[in-house]
Amino acid sequence: MLDIANNLALIQQRIARAAENAQRNPASITLLAVSKTKPIEMIEAAYAAGQRSFGENYLQDALPKIEALAELDIEWHYIGRIQSNKTRPIAEHFAWVHAIDSIKHAQRLNDQRPNGLPALNCCIQLNLSGEDSKGGIQPDALIETAAAFNELPHCRLRGLMTMPDPDSSAEQQQSVFHQLANCLDELKQQGFDVDTLSMGMSGDLELAIAEGSTMVRIGTDIFGARSYP
Ligand SMILES: *Cc1c(COP(=O)(O)O)cnc(C)c1O
Repeated sequence: MLDIANNLALIQQRIARAAENAQRNPASITLLAVSKTKPIEMIEAAYAAGQRSFGENYLQDALPKIEALAELDIEWHYIGRIQSNKTRPIAEHFAWVHAIDSIKHAQRLNDQRPNGLPALNCCIQLNLSGEDSKGGIQPDALIETAAAFNELPHCRLRGLMTMPDPDSSAEQQQSVFHQLANCLDELKQQGFDVDTLSMGMSGDLELAIAEGSTMVRIGTDIFGARSYP
């Protein structure tokens, strides 16, 4: 049987070891538990083990879970692809959005963020060479896209996100993480107040932490394999 508390402890150990190898403070790395496609009971089990940040990709799947668990102190992250006609429920129900790949989507999220909620934490997804290429902006559009957030009071640009092709080599994946870290540095140099590198999944969290990840998004190694991605 799946032991979620034990899986979480093992992931925390992997994070701690990877941080130590990179001479980084493990507390600078947040574990996001990716609960997409998984039932409420598993989220409750992870919550009981102390996990507070959860990531979801599919609104239809996520919204009933968010509603059912509304009493819990959970920070919900939308990590899926964004469709223009579905920005409203994202703006209303999530604290973070990781895969912003157009200014238009950011504007819609800003306009639809309910008054009274804190600004939506946003990461721009970059499409880097060797990347999955299913989404993300090109690096040469980064500064312009980041600057657009200056006009969006209900969104707060926190940093960058990427997802290397899982079938690429470890070297290629590490190169993608390295490129993303360089892009974050460039944003900082340009004066943007950013702090988040959302990178690293079950198979590559060590490489991502070596390159400076501040948030790893872990599904399979906490909740078991999924029948769809
Ligand atoms: C599914 C997913 C994850 C988690 O992947 P695992 O390999 O199961 O850890 C992380 N990030 C995104 C964007 C995902 O879609």
